[in-house]
Formats: sequence, structure tokens, C-alpha cells
Amino acid sequence: MASTPQINTLGALKESDYKVLPVREEIRNNLINKIKAEEEVFPGIIGFENTVIPQLENALLSGQDIILLGERGQAKSRLIRGLVNLLDPHIPIVTGCEINDNPYKPICYGCREKAVELGEDLPVDWITPSDRYSEKLATPDISIADLIGEIDPIKIAEGRYLGDELAIHFGLVPRTNRGIFCINELPDLAERIQVGLFNLMEERDVQIKGYRVQLPLDVYVVSTANPEDYTNRGRIVTPLKDRYGAQIHTHYPQTLEQEIFIMDQERSKFPDEETLIIPQFMKEVLAEVTYQARLSREVNQRSGVSVRASIANYETMLSNAVRRTIRQGQEISCPRVSDLPYIMASLSGKIELETFEEGSEGRLMEDLIKRAVIEIFNKYFSDTNLNEIVESFDIGSTALTGSEEPSKNYPDLLNSINGLSRAVAVLTDDSRPEIMASSIEFVLEGLHLSRRLNCERTPVGNIYRR
Ligand SMILES: [Zn+2]
Repeated sequence: MASTPQINTLGALKESDYKVLPVREEIRNNLINKIKAEEEVFPGIIGFENTVIPQLENALLSGQDIILLGERGQAKSRLIRGLVNLLDPHIPIVTGCEINDNPYKPICYGCREKAVELGEDLPVDWITPSDRYSEKLATPDISIADLIGEIDPIKIAEGRYLGDELAIHFGLVPRTNRGIFCINELPDLAERIQVGLFNLMEERDVQIKGYRVQLPLDVYVVSTANPEDYTNRGRIVTPLKDRYGAQIHTHYPQTLEQEIFIMDQERSKFPDEETLIIPQFMKEVLAEVTYQARLSREVNQRSGVSVRASIANYETMLSNAVRRTIRQGQEISCPRVSDLPYIMASLSGKIELETFEEGSEGRLMEDLIKRAVIEIFNKYFSDTNLNEIVESFDIGSTALTGSEEPSKNYPDLLNSINGLSRAVAVLTDDSRPEIMASSIEFVLEGLHLSRRLNCERTPVGNIYRR
């Protein structure tokens, strides 16, 4: 619908023939228009094209309330924020109304009085989609006052009688009237708050301190929950559960390519990007670390391993490469296998362990990194004969690598170790020392993890030998 923000009275709004639609209808219309125009409905959402998004679109077309079920870091909040793009660019409200009252049919006491008093001159204002969205992380201490409202003792002292809405200080949900309200981790909401929310959604009235107040809000309430918490008996009151028309499961990226795409899209970027070169195999190793963590029995899979783990690990690995470059006064930053131990700082807060044994976290993370390197190494080299390299070590070659080792020291290894340049050529044809260093480390560590080379981890670096 064409929006007309220059209109500023009820009379002018009526004259313009503007129709106010319920929020669900507005979302539905805009979704239909986007689908017809072949526009991307949820831009920036990767890997849900054939799974989550069709279900979500069905729910929106049905006007159903939605609960998204998924472990942490599955883009649930992002999907819900994407619904904001389905709201009209502007809608009219009664100027100054705390609950975005529809000028044709205000529901709050103040606006109703004003409408009687001013008639066609009732002032009208226009609000944008971002004014019509709010979200709240559910916690056990959220109260009815936070979510729905509270009786304002000052207003009572002024002589307004209870039950009169003028005495209500509105909470988050009424303030999102005619918009989208998202409640994250719904099962963490106390039972009586869930009941309050249900009454508001279903009965369109609220009970505040025993007083029943009619409040016919128009709010699209969307929720998220961890699947296990949600299905756990007793965590969600039954009427509220029944209320959801659509229960949609999200998931983690189904391929390394999708995980990498998200890592590249979401990582923090700085103006010195052009000096950064990231080999594809290093991206794959990092995505694989997360993938291995999602398979590990030692990691609590009920809470899951967020895509944010991949993103933060990626940032940390790149920063370690950048730090080396700055320290050594070099030009190009290129991450290497020896940078990987540093990701423990970003990974450790993002996985929950099943056991609490002393030191088990460090060992597990080391293990995840090793498994990831060997997986990706095998992907590149399962068809390549690397015997020549091993034989070269047999006759006494050694190699020193490390995250602080200058890149210019690496290309010499290509001359001293037979077959190494052939192996590196599988990874890259870029002969800059930084990229050579990264490729050489990947080959040597892969051989070590395949038990074909020994590796001694020393304070100066890793020494590979037979
Ligand atoms: Zn109002």
C-alpha cells in the first residue's frame, strides 16, 4: 500500500482512502508481492532455501503464529528480524501514542479521549518498520510488568481509579502493537508469564494485579526455543503450545561451502583487507573444526555449536596472521596451520562440554583441530603420492615451521625436500612466500597426522622429522 507520510490528521487520512490492515495481512500482502517480483525474501540467509524458508513462507501466508526450534547459532533471530522487511515502509499512528494506536480505531484510553475531543483533527504520525519490531530474551525473572504492563502507582495517586488504562504503564508487547514481537528462548519464561502472554494473544485482555483490562492488541508474536527445552514436558504451558500454528525446525549449514560462505559474510572486516590472502584449504579446515565439534560426543549437542564459533575462529586465525605480518614488517597476511592453536580462545566459550574433567577442554579442542586438518588434508591429497617427501625426511631432512616463523624462510624447504613443491602445487600456483609457507605447513602437518612424519612441538616452533 502506498504510504503517505505527509498526511498528519485523521481527516486527511480518511480523505486519502488509506486502509489500515492487521499486521498479519500487511505481512502476507508484502510477502506475496515479493514472491511475485521474484525478490529474495530473506536476504543474507544461507542454506535454508529449500528447508526452512518454504515452511516459514507457508506460515506467513496462513497468518499463523510461529515458533522456530533450533540449537544455538542457527540464524533464528536473523530470520525473525528478516520479517521486518515484510512490513510497510510507513504506517499511520495517533501522534504520541505509546502503543502505536490505529488512528481510525484507537484502543488506549488517552487516544480514545483525544479522538472524541479533536475529531477529524486528531493528529497522525507515521512510523517505520524498525519502530514496529522488538525482541526480548526470555529469562526466569521477566515479569508481567516488563512484558505486558504494570499499574502505575503515581497515576493511582493522582486519583485515577484502578482498571482505568490510564493507570497502566505499558510493557514491551503493547508497545510493539501493530508490529512484530520476538521472544527468544520461550521455555525460560516463567509459567505465569506464559499464561499472561497467551491471554494477551488469544483473549486480547490482560490481568494486571487481579484487574482485567481489555486490550485488543494486534501483535505478531514470534518465538524461538531450543528443541529439547520446548518438547520437555512442563516447560511450555499447553494452551500456549497449542496457539502456535507453525513449528519450524532450523538447522546448521548442511555443507562446508555454506558454512564458509557465512564465515566470509559475517566476519568483521577492516580497511586493510587487500593485504589478506586466505587459502581455501584454511577456510575448509576452520569450517571442519565446527563440523567435528557438532559430531563430538564430548560436546553437549543439546545446546549445539553455533555458526558463530566458525565466525569467531575465523576472525582469530586471520588476526594471528595479521599480527605476524605487522610484527615482521611484511606486506601480506596469510593464515597457516600453526595459527590454529590460537582459535582456542574463541572456540572455548562456544562449546559446552559433557564432562568437567580438568584439562579436558584444551585436549578436546586440540583434537578437533587435528581431526579437521586431517579430514581436509585427505580431501586434497588422497590421490597424490607423497612418498618422495617422506623419503627425503628418511635421509635426514628436517623442517622448522611455526606461527612466528618468517614466511621468507619457507621457500628454501621446497628445494631441500624432494616432492614438496609438487605437493604444494596441488594447493596453489601462487609463489609468494606467505602462501608457500601456508601450503607447506598444511602438507607437513597432514603427513604428521597421517603418522608419516614425526613432529616435535617446541617453544621455537614445530620440527618435522622422521
Ligand atoms: Zn493510544
